[in-house]
Amino acid sequence: MKVGNLERIKAVKDVVWMTSSELVRLKYFEVLAKQVQNGNNKEAISHFLNPKRYIEYWFKNQVDSVDSMADTEYYKTYNSEFYYVSQKIHNCQSLGEIERYVNNYMEEVDDIHYKVNLKNLERHLNTSEEPHIQLRLHIEKRLKDYCKPKPKFFQNPSDDESIMKMLGCTETCYWCGALCWGSRGHDRNTDETKKHHTAHQPGGLHGERYTQADILVAVSCHQKTDDLMVLCWNKPTRWGVAKIRDFSDWKFESHYKDQLNNFMCWFFEKLNQDLAKRLNCVPASNNELSKYGCINLNYDNIINSLKVKLV
Ligand SMILES: [Zn+2]
Ligand SMILES: [Zn+2]
Repeated sequence: MKVGNLERIKAVKDVVWMTSSELVRLKYFEVLAKQVQNGNNKEAISHFLNPKRYIEYWFKNQVDSVDSMADTEYYKTYNSEFYYVSQKIHNCQSLGEIERYVNNYMEEVDDIHYKVNLKNLERHLNTSEEPHIQLRLHIEKRLKDYCKPKPKFFQNPSDDESIMKMLGCTETCYWCGALCWGSRGHDRNTDETKKHHTAHQPGGLHGERYTQADILVAVSCHQKTDDLMVLCWNKPTRWGVAKIRDFSDWKFESHYKDQLNNFMCWFFEKLNQDLAKRLNCVPASNNELSKYGCINLNYDNIINSLKVKLV
């Protein structure tokens, strides 16, 4: 099993888009963008309203289904090992020899599926065969039962921490829903690096709105001025105060990883109307979209330039 698990993890790590969290996220957003281009906004909207849940669900599904090559390798290794062990047992000439061989082998591979117990053997004995031949036949039969283990016996690659690291931190900004760009588990650090940080995105993607008129906003957190009034736990508060007092575990300045910014603006341009319908509010105005660069964006240009930068 260990060999199979390691092979599956290796197969996932060999996937091209698994080499960085930027590429993982680009792959994910491309899947959503294709649906949006085909007029299906449902999944993309569900993502932006609940990013952590949706990206983790997608990622786990993806990595857990990258298994065909690993399984082939596993069966190859398993079959040759099975043949080798069967031959060794077949050549044993006494009960003691079989017992020693099998128990040593199990210790060596650090996995216990079968342990020879001579006392239990009595119930398998009959009078027509030598005891060691009966034991050999019994072991061979049991080994055959394990000869074709189903993939469900494998550990899922997503159970492995080094695989989940490739997704990065999936905490999301309370205001705009942007996914943190930190490494997985960085919030357990004790210094400044524990703060979540991201390239913030148009707030309307996560349902942020101008409260009085209930209109979605296109402004991103890093573009807000400190004297802007925001509704913080139902209390009107200045942004400059709220971000330090109530969201001190996040950074809100602009981020060096800004490659996906235009892509997120493209999403907001496309989803604005349907998001407003879903949230029963008013879509962002053209002026608002234009002010924050969420208008007339060309998908092909965005994707091509992202691929040049990231791949
Ligand atoms: Zn934000
Ligand atoms: Zn984080």
